[in-house]
Amino acid sequence: MLTTEKVKFVFHKALLFRGTARRFLLCQFYKPYVEKQLAKRRGSCLQCGKCCDLSVKCPLLKKKNGDISCRIYHHGRTLACRSFPIDERDLADVDFKCGYHFVN
Ligand code: SF4
Ligand code: SF4
Repeated sequence: MLTTEKVKFVFHKALLFRGTARRFLLCQFYKPYVEKQLAKRRGSCLQCGKCCDLSVKCPLLKKKNGDISCRIYHHGRTLACRSFPIDERDLADVDFKCGYHFVN
């Protein structure tokens, strides 16, 4: 039986999946928007792995003894991976716990 907590969890995961799909589509079909946003992005990646473990944990994310890494970080990450976060909506997906922010 679905409890309220489970329903909330599934709903939250669905929202995160929507964000993943949105980033994919933006990187495929709206590159000017992505480029415009990346020009306004400041900060650096903290290598926390949060954006790799949203709706579904990426199989290329490696967690071992407290260390977090991407198996293809230096060769072959998709544009969607390299572009996270594209905007504030992406930051919201990681509860704004990210090394990047945006300036106007
Ligand atoms: S959430 Fe932000 S800081 Fe963490 S891995 Fe993703 S881009 Fe880097
Ligand atoms: S490929 Fe690497 S950077 Fe992209 S989601 Fe997976 S672990 Fe993260």
